[in-house]
Amino acid sequence: MKRREFLKLAGAVSVAGCATPAPSKARVVVVGGGFGGATAAKYIRKWDPSIEVVLVERESAFVSCPISNLVLGGYSSLADISRNYDALRRHGVQVVRDEVTAIDAPKKTVRLARGGELAYERLIVSPGIDFNFGELQGYEAAMQAGSVLHAWKAGPQTAALRTQLEQMRDGGVYVLSIPMAPYRCPPGPYERASIVAAYFKQAKPRSKVLVLDANPDITSKAGLFKRAWSDLYPKIIEYRGNSRAVAVDGNARIVKLELDDVKGDVLNVVPPHRAADLAEKAGLITTNNRWCDVDWRTMESKAVKGVHVLGDATLSAPAMPKSASMANNHAKIAAAAVVELLNGRNPEPFKIINTCYSFVSPKEAIRVSSVHEWEPTQGTLVAVKGSGGVSAARSEAEGAYAWSWARTIWADSLA
Ligand SMILES: Cc1cc2nc3c(=O)[nH]c(=O)nc-3n(C[C@H](O)[C@H](O)[C@H](O)COP(=O)(O)OP(=O)(O)OC[C@H]3O[C@@H](n4cnc5c(N)ncnc54)[C@H](O)[C@@H]3O)c2cc1C
Repeated sequence: MKRREFLKLAGAVSVAGCATPAPSKARVVVVGGGFGGATAAKYIRKWDPSIEVVLVERESAFVSCPISNLVLGGYSSLADISRNYDALRRHGVQVVRDEVTAIDAPKKTVRLARGGELAYERLIVSPGIDFNFGELQGYEAAMQAGSVLHAWKAGPQTAALRTQLEQMRDGGVYVLSIPMAPYRCPPGPYERASIVAAYFKQAKPRSKVLVLDANPDITSKAGLFKRAWSDLYPKIIEYRGNSRAVAVDGNARIVKLELDDVKGDVLNVVPPHRAADLAEKAGLITTNNRWCDVDWRTMESKAVKGVHVLGDATLSAPAMPKSASMANNHAKIAAAAVVELLNGRNPEPFKIINTCYSFVSPKEAIRVSSVHEWEPTQGTLVAVKGSGGVSAARSEAEGAYAWSWARTIWADSLA
């Protein structure tokens, strides 16, 4: 679209009833103010302040999934892991609290739930994940009744699960069911098992953590988790691989597996994931009815031109986890590409880094990291041979680094 035509279209729309200023160079709309979207919005403004950036986010504040497992254990709070969007406004990002309900790619507009449309020159979508509840019979009704929770999006379910753990009798069983990979944060469930076990050890030592994993074995940092569990929680954590949940009976407090039924006091069943609803509605999903394939040099969707998809919603490149670290890096690829494209230049691919810490006790953590680079013959990002690796052992030093990592990524994305 020519600059003059774009200005005409952009000037014709309003944001949820409010008049918007005419864009100076071009308008980029970003959907989702999580790790991917917030970072992209901020960095486009930093790298080219003449670009107008509108961020549409349906929640009033950001709540971090990283560190939310410590909240479940009572070692941190929701206030510690929440941030508002004021700092993004100071970078010149227009933050609109609304939900995008549709994308019209040929017209280059998004529709807002509260009414009105927003025109864009480039659209960035980082909507995170939603769940395939249908793969678990009885799940949605049991979740509405509060008898099963996932707490895999930090917020109200995190608080509700913490309350259930506090109210559970000493001698009770907390059941954590993990879906088949790929899912958001490969080591996250094993961190959660560790932290709930640490809480039980201190507050209700006759209780058990029963991990039902659909995967055959622990999917990340397996040796380090197993070592921590046998050293710290030998009588508390029981791990069962190849244990895929297929149904939930909330009233009887039962998780049904393919061959077995398991009874618990607190049921924390994490359903299989897919790219969030908006990706599905907008035709961005390309693979297995679940994920959005992208060009890793720009994060542009392979299905819909002019739309860049970031974060957990993407079809992960080989050996790439769905993590906050990756979403933040995807955002920088997209922000750089959008700035280059809007200035009539060609984007260049660059290397990105993943680091993922997991607490195994309230103070000790373990780490995995990797570097990913563009590989032209395969047409994707691949892990750089010899880069990254895992911690030699769990330690309090890694725990301190984990807190520094969290504070740094919150600031990089939102401050
Ligand atoms: C328990 C747990 C622990 C974790 N620990 C770590 C860790 O230690 N390190 C790490 O790197 N990663 C960790 N992760 C993973 C990390 O949280 C995710 O990978 C990251 O949040 C993905 O970022 P995103 O931008 O794709 O999605 P999100 O951060 O989920 O952001 C999506 C945003 O989009 C908004 N949204 C969605 N649809 C719309 C719409 N239609 N209109 C408007 N807004 C919309 C949502 O409200 C949300 O704010 C953890 C995850 C969990 C569950």
